[in-house]
Amino acid sequence: MRLVLLGPPGAGKGTQAREISQRLAIPHISTGDMFREAIKGGTPLGRQAEAYIKDGRLVPDEVTIGLVQERLARPDCRDGFLLDGFPRTVAQAEALDAWLAGRQEGLDAVIDIEVPRDALLERLTGRRVCRQCGATYHVRYNPPAVEGKCDICGQDLVQRADDTEATVSRRLDVYTGQTAPLINYYRQRSLLKEIDGRQDIPAVTLAIGRALGRDWQ
Ligand code: ADP
Ligand code: AMP
Repeated sequence: MRLVLLGPPGAGKGTQAREISQRLAIPHISTGDMFREAIKGGTPLGRQAEAYIKDGRLVPDEVTIGLVQERLARPDCRDGFLLDGFPRTVAQAEALDAWLAGRQEGLDAVIDIEVPRDALLERLTGRRVCRQCGATYHVRYNPPAVEGKCDICGQDLVQRADDTEATVSRRLDVYTGQTAPLINYYRQRSLLKEIDGRQDIPAVTLAIGRALGRDWQ
């Protein structure tokens, strides 16, 4: 399946993407993760993206579109993929459509996880991520077994540099202005599956499964 996960920052896209990509055996492609890796590695892409991300603004379309096209062209995406955090602008969505159409392909569904703004603030400021493997936790809603340590690899959990209150607020405004128009874009193309993201994590996974016609337990 060729899927897009849409929703504001903190809606639970990354959390659900890890689960869904395993269940469907398709690669999870997160542009945010790709940028963070590039920043960590000190690559030219990382240097280009860093200031935008720190500020809570979007990395320019031409950089992001090129990055995703390169990733989607790899053989592991031939039978499907799950995009998390891309597209984030109408120009990115149009570029994705054109690129897929050029290969006689198209998206199967766009899963829109909706969560109200006050809950997003709490989710983002309480988010902790493993600095080694990137696994995501929440101090209250999804705590690790041992405080401050990753369940998977045992490394330290840290707060993302862009999860401070000031940056979160900018990111939510950027979402409303630049990304939310994609809801209508995909609704008009009959691809949109709307999911109530206020439910707990396993319930959201099951709701996504139902929306995709899967009877997940
Ligand atoms: P996104 O990728 O959309 O920015 P994440 O998956 O990183 O969001 O989730 C943001 C934060 O909210 C994380 O700390 C995560 O553990 C937590 N979280 C994710 N889904 C839920 C949920 N359904 N209920 C409560 N907290 C959640
Ligand atoms: P995320 O991990 O999805 O929350 O993304 C973190 C940050 O990376 C965003 O706030 C943007 O600065 C940048 N980013 C991720 N995906 C995109 C995208 N599709 N277009 C532009 N910038 C992006």
